[in-house]
Amino acid sequence: MNMEEVRKWIQEKYPFLAANDDFAVRLYKQEVLKEQLTETRVVYPPVTSIKYLQVGVPATVVGKPMVNGQRRYYNACKTCGRKNCDNPMHEGAIQKSITPILIGDQTDVIHAVLFNDASLDNDLEEINEAFAAVFVGTKYKSSYSGDFELRVNTWEFLTNADHSALTSIYEYFLLNDNPRHILLLTNYNNYIDSIMQKNSSITSENIAKAEKYLVASRDNDYIYMNIIA
Ligand SMILES: [Zn+2]
Repeated sequence: MNMEEVRKWIQEKYPFLAANDDFAVRLYKQEVLKEQLTETRVVYPPVTSIKYLQVGVPATVVGKPMVNGQRRYYNACKTCGRKNCDNPMHEGAIQKSITPILIGDQTDVIHAVLFNDASLDNDLEEINEAFAAVFVGTKYKSSYSGDFELRVNTWEFLTNADHSALTSIYEYFLLNDNPRHILLLTNYNNYIDSIMQKNSSITSENIAKAEKYLVASRDNDYIYMNIIA
């Protein structure tokens, strides 16, 4: 498939879309090449500093984790993962764990709980030794403590290099103060190349790990990012 051909085709068939290469390619694949559209879109919640977390709003936090007490276990429905499942069609149970931790970043610290399948648990020591981690979760008011906590459903440990890649990419977007072009990005790789040129310690592996959480939008003086993959 070459772009000339696609442009010619879209110009003839849908002239009002002729300026949109990105969509033209999708249409061309579907209508000319008869390919089934199978795009999946993973949208991670915005990266948010702990201080700016809002109750009930899913967010991504990048911070340093510390284990803060005993891990607890409970049995949950194997199908839906709920603790109290009353669906008669759901069979089987699975052991889940709750790990209490503290997460700190440059703005604040928050109590958090990691929800996990017990069989997939990390060692508590591994959590403490992590340089930093990316946590995806939601802030809520705990009925136990009456305090605000982060309920974490997904997390990924970051090495020092991963963390530095993330930070550099954030800085890059902050310096290049034009969030609209990020949302309209058609050549993401050029951005990544220029980031790597500016910082030779960043590898493509760092980028691959970091970029899941990228692509920015801006709200006043506050930048948050997520990637549209
Ligand atoms: Zn269930």
